[in-house]
Amino acid sequence: MTPASPPSSRLFVVSGPSGVGKSTVLRRVVRAVSGLSFAVSHTTRPRREGEEDGRDYHFVSDAEFDALIADNSFVEWAEVHDHRYGTSRSALAPSAGGDLLIEVDVQGARSLRDEIDGAVTIFIAPPKFADLEARLTGRGRESGAEVRRRLRTATGEMPQAGDYDHQVVNADIETTVRAIVRVIEEARSAAR
Ligand code: ADP
Ligand code: 5GP
Repeated sequence: MTPASPPSSRLFVVSGPSGVGKSTVLRRVVRAVSGLSFAVSHTTRPRREGEEDGRDYHFVSDAEFDALIADNSFVEWAEVHDHRYGTSRSALAPSAGGDLLIEVDVQGARSLRDEIDGAVTIFIAPPKFADLEARLTGRGRESGAEVRRRLRTATGEMPQAGDYDHQVVNADIETTVRAIVRVIEEARSAAR
């Protein structure tokens, strides 16, 4: 008898404007769902306090990022808020049959939708636009000018929510986590 082949890995692609709560929610989703891990992107952005190389991102120099582009190592890459971010082919290599979750900006989601068969896309939106400013300010990580810039970027991102397979409004963190877990479970049972 031939052994059953393991289910191929599914990719869940999540985007949303800065400050909507993506990191907060996705950390909990990964803890809540077995067989799901983060696909780790590369970035030229400096590491923030509390972040770990290889866990949050692969932090690389501009020259290293250029070399990765030249080697065709990326499925997609984009410039976001003055830094470059990319999804490497190796980040998307099936991890022992487990599923992968990746957070990318709207440009990255567009590319991954085209490149990866069956990728499931999820857009996290705020209850109202003004919540973004409150959350970014409350987080206290960016200057006032940087917050304004992220809000300007958000005005271009919000109209693209409809291009995603699923839209989830992050009003309450736990409700949002449950909604995303449900999307993942439904995709898994549909593929059985
Ligand atoms: P992102 O990763 O999308 O930039 P974060 O996860 O850093 O956003 O969240 C931005 C801020 O908003 C954080 O201070 C976080 O605690 C807060 N936050 C996240 N979700 C909610 C929510 N549903 N209601 C209120 N505040 C939230
Ligand atoms: P941050 O610097 O706050 O971690 O992320 C900034 C933005 O970069 C977010 O919108 C995030 O989704 C996006 N991002 C992170 N990794 C990637 C990636 O690999 N590709 C693309 N296109 N965007 C990414």
